[in-house]
Amino acid sequence: MSRLLEVRDLKTYFFLRKGVVKAVDGVSFDLDKGEALGIVGESGSGKTVTALSIMRLVPYPGRIVDGEIKFKGRDLLSLSEDEMRKIRGKEISMIFQDPHNSLNPVYNVGWQVGEAIELHTEGKPIWSRILDKVISILRGVGIPKVEERIYDYPHQFSGGQKQRIMIGMSVSNNPDLIIADEPTTALDVTIQAQIIDLLKELRHRYGSSIMLITHNMGLVAELCDRIAVMYSGKVVEYGDINRIFEEPLHPYTQLLLECIPRTDRDVDRLMSIPGEPPDPISPPRGCRFHPRCPYAKDWCRRDDIYVYRDNDHMVSCELYR
Ligand code: SF4
Repeated sequence: MSRLLEVRDLKTYFFLRKGVVKAVDGVSFDLDKGEALGIVGESGSGKTVTALSIMRLVPYPGRIVDGEIKFKGRDLLSLSEDEMRKIRGKEISMIFQDPHNSLNPVYNVGWQVGEAIELHTEGKPIWSRILDKVISILRGVGIPKVEERIYDYPHQFSGGQKQRIMIGMSVSNNPDLIIADEPTTALDVTIQAQIIDLLKELRHRYGSSIMLITHNMGLVAELCDRIAVMYSGKVVEYGDINRIFEEPLHPYTQLLLECIPRTDRDVDRLMSIPGEPPDPISPPRGCRFHPRCPYAKDWCRRDDIYVYRDNDHMVSCELYR
């Protein structure tokens, strides 16, 4: 597989009056063509800011202060805003968390999907052709009776159907990369499973790579080949999904895995990770997980936390020094 995306030492900070939030602080990972990467971690770990940095959509007062993002060999951070606009929605598309707020309530869904296609169509677009494509896309994501529903408005669809429409919009230009940011958070568990199945199917149909951002390890296991576990703005463990699920090395990954129900283990109670994520303005020194880590020792407070590498597997933890 060839490389699609390379993120190196990415740093995205938010400059607030109270101080600087290092939301993404030296994040590196790769994504190959056709591959699915899961980025997991609790709220505030920097997952969404990583995605927004790749899209170059970091809101004020945030700013990418350092690092490199290479997409198909091009350095995204050196492109003009015009060049970036051509990439967004066509080569990289994003599915946002909340389908209820992502669709525009005053336009019918056919128009909204059609607009996404039209924006990236070369020359004068022919609306009847676009309409055919809209119908085929919406049918492809499982909207029933599409011809009858194409002029319906978002409020006439269920939450699951709205997310299907959003996913349809995201694949409408056959992008190389789909970033799905918590795409199932606002949906019930049955619909969650259907949406993940849909993403799997579309990945195979269109050959797109997927970056799934979630706090749910179960969803990552369903869809992804690789996983990057983030904690307080840093990737603490990264590697092949099977390997990490079978033998997680970082204590945080181990605890995250204890928190999900598994059919291969018999447990009376599911765990929750004790403590709270650190204050983003003044995170603890050294390993940022040390106040919550059951194995923490004095040396976990030093600045240069050991990074263990074995082929594609990376763990940042003093236990492996
Ligand atoms: Fe725990 Fe220390 Fe490893 Fe951090 S470096 S995860 S505190 S053992």
